[in-house]
Amino acid sequence: MNEESTLIDLHCHTTASDGQLTPSEIIDRALTRNVDVLAITDHDTVQGLFEAHEYNNKKDTPLTLINGVEISCRWESHDIHVVGLNVDIENPQLDEYLKTQRVLREERAAEIGRRLEKAGVIGAYEGAKSFANGAALSRGHYASWLVKNDYAKCRNSVFKKYMTRGKTGYVPNNWKSIPEAVAIIHQAGGQAVLAHPSGYKFSSKWLKKLVREFKEANGDAIEVVLGQQSINERSNLIALSHQNELYASLGSDFHFPGGWLELGKNLFRPKGVNWVWESQNWKKEIKAEPLQ
Ligand code: AMP
Ligand code: MN
Ligand code: MN
Ligand code: MN
Repeated sequence: MNEESTLIDLHCHTTASDGQLTPSEIIDRALTRNVDVLAITDHDTVQGLFEAHEYNNKKDTPLTLINGVEISCRWESHDIHVVGLNVDIENPQLDEYLKTQRVLREERAAEIGRRLEKAGVIGAYEGAKSFANGAALSRGHYASWLVKNDYAKCRNSVFKKYMTRGKTGYVPNNWKSIPEAVAIIHQAGGQAVLAHPSGYKFSSKWLKKLVREFKEANGDAIEVVLGQQSINERSNLIALSHQNELYASLGSDFHFPGGWLELGKNLFRPKGVNWVWESQNWKKEIKAEPLQ
């Protein structure tokens, strides 16, 4: 690993949730993209990591693979995502927690289907299920089906039209709380990271409240560098990490090829940031210089 140019991406998805590449394919793509350290962080599941490790070991690649998960939480009735890094993917308590999440996902997905059907969108539940191909159902699978069937031009407009708060296909979430997600991540030996804090489109006052409460819940870090963001947003998030004594993380949130987001892309590492891999409990040693 070349320390000067070590490329680190601690957030991405596979077909185990709503990503479009299999765990093996994501490893290959990370290698092509010169990513040195990759965390796979599927929504509410660690299933993809078993295949990913097997493939990575068999191929004997130079890639450092980090076990991750992105847990959906309920906070002030919003959907908030907490990433767990370095979790033990065989931890029985984590397994139980994720089983419950899967049940909640199934119930929610069925309700989304019923609501869409009432609004005249027929067959969306079955369609989303076939896109999920056995993975826990996500709004992302609904989005794929709705775009394919010409209900909207792109995924973004699907969300705007059908799937965000207040729209036909939005079902109020029933996830567990942030403190519960942080606790289970810690129990499984991991670090808890507040995912894409600017993605929730909160006012600055609410974002500050969220980050403060995440810290109070024993959270370890927040994502400050994302694949797509303004310089202003990045410095604001870095400031929030300092103010709340949280470590910083970074990740592309890659889901599929050909979109805006790409593995390892735009993952700058400004100076003066306390990175989560420098924290005491971090498992696999990573040496990385600032990368502007
Ligand atoms: P879920 O985990 O089922 O609540 O679905 C959330 C997923 O939907 C996110 O991880 C994204 O992949 C996708 N998503 C959420 N909001 C948007 C949006 N505005 N545009 C496109 N995809 C979105
Ligand atoms: Mn997703
Ligand atoms: Mn997310
Ligand atoms: Mn994600």
